[in-house]
Amino acid sequence: MRLSRMFMPTRKEDPADAEIASHKLLIRGGYVRQLTRGIYTFLPLGWKSVKKIQRIVREEMDAAGAQEILMPGVQPSELWQESGRWDDYGPELLRFEDRKGGEFCLGPTHEEVITDLVRGELNSYKQLPLNLYQIQTKFRDEPRARFGLLRGREFIMKDAYSFDLDEEGAEASYEQMYEAYGRICDRLGFDWSAVEADTGAIGGEKSHEFQVVTDTGEDKLVSCPDCGYAANIEKAQLPADGFEAPEAGDLESMETVETPGKTTIGEVCDFLGVEPTDCVKTLLYEVDDQAVAVLVRGDHAANDIKVRDFLRDQVGMEFATLEMADDGTVYDLTGASVGYAGPVGLDVPVYADNAVREMANFVVGANADDTHRRNVNWERDFDVEGFADLREAEAGDPCPECGTALETSRGIEVGHVFYLGTKYSDAMGASVQTDEGVDQSLIMGCYGMGITRILAAVAEQNHDEHGLIWPMPIAPYHATVLPLQMNSDEVVETGEEIYEELQEAGVEVMIDDRDEGVGAKFKDADLIGIPVRVAIGTRGLEDGNVELKLREEDDDELVPVDEVADRIVEIVEERGA
Ligand code: ATP
Ligand code: MG
Repeated sequence: MRLSRMFMPTRKEDPADAEIASHKLLIRGGYVRQLTRGIYTFLPLGWKSVKKIQRIVREEMDAAGAQEILMPGVQPSELWQESGRWDDYGPELLRFEDRKGGEFCLGPTHEEVITDLVRGELNSYKQLPLNLYQIQTKFRDEPRARFGLLRGREFIMKDAYSFDLDEEGAEASYEQMYEAYGRICDRLGFDWSAVEADTGAIGGEKSHEFQVVTDTGEDKLVSCPDCGYAANIEKAQLPADGFEAPEAGDLESMETVETPGKTTIGEVCDFLGVEPTDCVKTLLYEVDDQAVAVLVRGDHAANDIKVRDFLRDQVGMEFATLEMADDGTVYDLTGASVGYAGPVGLDVPVYADNAVREMANFVVGANADDTHRRNVNWERDFDVEGFADLREAEAGDPCPECGTALETSRGIEVGHVFYLGTKYSDAMGASVQTDEGVDQSLIMGCYGMGITRILAAVAEQNHDEHGLIWPMPIAPYHATVLPLQMNSDEVVETGEEIYEELQEAGVEVMIDDRDEGVGAKFKDADLIGIPVRVAIGTRGLEDGNVELKLREEDDDELVPVDEVADRIVEIVEERGA
């Protein structure tokens, strides 16, 4: 490809709304352009890399025995009514009507469509196991679309669905996909980890996320250095027992203190001369149209997933949405601004994290502006309806498997495998006859992988201050040829010869034949991150040499003109193009 002809609109400035490197560099390098919030066009370089990611994913899916199909993006509401998700999925589901008033959505995922397909086509156990996948555009009206391709509203996903007769078969299907995901992550060159995860809006009995480990990831992870346990922090359980209530004799009398303008735990601690471990945070949640309070120790963070599961499974509440109460609701419930809520005299059910059970004489908000209470004690001063594990695990917490201190890291979720069981097949009546002629619900698994998120995750893990550093297998081009002085016939001709030789050898190569200065050519080559660069300049040619440099290495090397193409072919092959 000739850069003089290539549609590769690079930019010098970072986009104003970009916070992380992958977002900045994919825009600046001319890989993608945003159309509107969370919706992107892929430019030639970006689309080439996306297709390479798709190829790797396809190869591994096919090798694992899955068969590719393509389902529609538009889905009728009736199927979602059947599964119950028309009501459960919430505002992420983009709904609309056709001209006849029929209700539809843009598919955020395809469990309903695939279950509808197979229930009409499968009738005997002999047709199982079956695994079908597609690579397709999804739409989710994400509340916080950000970080470029990492959290888009329209994005490309690979989604696979497995169907088995019994649990053993379904476990084997799950295992096969789990292994395939590991191979894909390896081929993409990721530093990755598979972690136990919450099943969220997809549901089902168990799941693992494939996380690309990076400090800028949105997901918090815990892992055990000893036994290898690894989980998304949403999922990581903490010990449920061993929390002793304080002795009655130790309780001091409650007092009210003025804390003008002190709304955060840090400010309150500084002002009162106490530690965060002496404070209790009162978090108000809106659960559909009811309110509940959740207490956690001052240095702990509540885990919304644990709160949701606890309210559903232990307390027995039924609800569609659970959200932190907004400022107005906090004021209505407490009579105070945010930052001064407390459990004493609060007229909503109060639940508390296990760690609060051990606490005595703690500090809480007083439900009045600029005021807190000291020496507060549960049971004596307010009722707790239930204690449970409601907080996020932290570094140093005990591993739920072996007790060793957990470590924390951050990750980008690129894939998620779910053991669904019969959630969808029961709801939608997808069954086959067993060899004894009995109807049996299909046992399902589903397996998502974010193709466009992967592009950004690779960029996030492979860049420096000058630009992107693509691993060979998904680089848009393997090599780039830079004739440095376009006014020298010798430079231009040598460049053209090398370019041609590489093309003939099957290397995907670009040539920067633009009438640009040396600095601009080097800058753009670094920015777009092509793995191999060969620069041809008048000085090197005096001795018959050109300059060969790998994007991932600091130093270049002088190589004789007539050897350079062979060297590049070797490098490209070694790196698994
Ligand atoms: P997240 O927790 O990041 O919102 P999810 O659990 O909703 O992800 P799944 O429903 O499991 O995601 O979707 C399968 C895969 O699709 C994810 O592992 C991810 O790679 C990708 N994906 C999900 N949401 C987005 C998005 N908004 N933008 C880009 N890719 C996404
Ligand atoms: Mg999501």
